[in-house]
Amino acid sequence: MSLPKTAHIIVIGGGVMGASIAYHLAVRGESNILLIERDNFFGLGATGRCAGGVRYQFATEVNIRLSLASLPLLERFEEEIGQAIDYRKCGYLFLLSNLDDVAVFQRNLELQNRLQAGTQWLDGAEIRRRLPMMHLDDILGGTFNPRDGLVDPNGVVMGYIRAGQRLGVRALSGVTVTGIQVEGNRVAGVETSAGRVTAQVVINAAGPWAGLVGKMAGVDIPITPLRRQWFTTGPMPEIPSDFPFVIDFAQSLYFHREGQGLLVGMSNPQELPGFDQNVDSDWELVNVEAAAARLPLLEKASLVSRLAGLYEVTPDAHPVYGRTPVEGFYVCSGFSGHGFMHGPISGILMSEIILDGEAQSVDIAGLDLARFAEGRLIQEYNVV
Ligand SMILES: Cc1cc2nc3c(=O)[nH]c(=O)nc-3n(C[C@H](O)[C@H](O)[C@H](O)COP(=O)(O)OP(=O)(O)OC[C@H]3O[C@@H](n4cnc5c(N)ncnc54)[C@H](O)[C@@H]3O)c2cc1C
Repeated sequence: MSLPKTAHIIVIGGGVMGASIAYHLAVRGESNILLIERDNFFGLGATGRCAGGVRYQFATEVNIRLSLASLPLLERFEEEIGQAIDYRKCGYLFLLSNLDDVAVFQRNLELQNRLQAGTQWLDGAEIRRRLPMMHLDDILGGTFNPRDGLVDPNGVVMGYIRAGQRLGVRALSGVTVTGIQVEGNRVAGVETSAGRVTAQVVINAAGPWAGLVGKMAGVDIPITPLRRQWFTTGPMPEIPSDFPFVIDFAQSLYFHREGQGLLVGMSNPQELPGFDQNVDSDWELVNVEAAAARLPLLEKASLVSRLAGLYEVTPDAHPVYGRTPVEGFYVCSGFSGHGFMHGPISGILMSEIILDGEAQSVDIAGLDLARFAEGRLIQEYNVV
């Protein structure tokens, strides 16, 4: 497909956000939508490198409400979009090893359950009973939500891309947006590696690169790329099929089933911002050692794959939705390491902001870009 000269709405970025936004705008009857992705395939950015976890367990009301709206869309995804996404409700189990985290997670649990999220408290003995293959003597307790789980990220992106195309969305890969045209204080289109396209509306869904895309329009969007990585193992028959998504919160160390083996990741607290997506072998060693101390079975497992990707981090670990100071130029990014699961509802919210003037499905008034300049930051404790 060649680059058109004009579109009504241009979406920059073909990850979960861009794909969901384009689809949901098309569902609302918008025609002439152009989605532009730099890579040769859709969903190879943060979305394609993510761990696929979906959860209700957050520390702020707005994140819990985003999950309450988004995860049911994933449950109905195959029915609505016609693409299987392998939603496995294995539950997330947060392991807590210090009293400060216990106190915070108990408060979080109350908030989650006030909103009907259905999270459970498990004491240390119960956790050790459920995970006999792990070394958990220091675990004081934890929270478990049986409706949390895992979803296939590629299926979600390609499901939205194909469903959008059926509704008339033109989705182009292998084209890079190199500039944004602004006339007066209004967006007028984009410059790309394949030519210029005029448009009245341009949406920045460039994930970890959203700060760079913002600069093209002269807009400061405080989104920092931060490398995170994981590895997968060969078959581990001792790990039961209902093994939960286990997170050792104090170490930011996590395990979940992937195929017949495990996916294991750990966040490096010393990681410096940057766009490097190569695996850091030194950190991988730290990760393997910490993981094997918790799960000695890993010493016998083979390493099958490893991947690094970028979190798109904002100063308050919450996303940025909506208008920018340039009229017609919108942003949807900055999910700070847990955006995949909020992709479905984010497409709906952005379509509401653009077509109706404000978001209605979830109250995200506090997640505007202006909050950073005005000092209205929110903090999320549950960042892994
Ligand atoms: C290791 C890791 C584990 C994670 N685990 C989870 C998890 O378990 N659960 C969860 O919910 N989230 C997780 N996340 C976070 C999640 O992946 C992101 O929040 C989410 O995928 C962001 O989607 P996006 O569409 O905004 O960004 P992306 O998927 O990065 O999409 C942005 C796209 O924009 C394109 N682009 C950039 N610049 C340009 C340009 N100039 N022109 C054209 N295209 C451009 C990029 O190529 C990219 O494809 C994880 C992230 C990482 C890195």
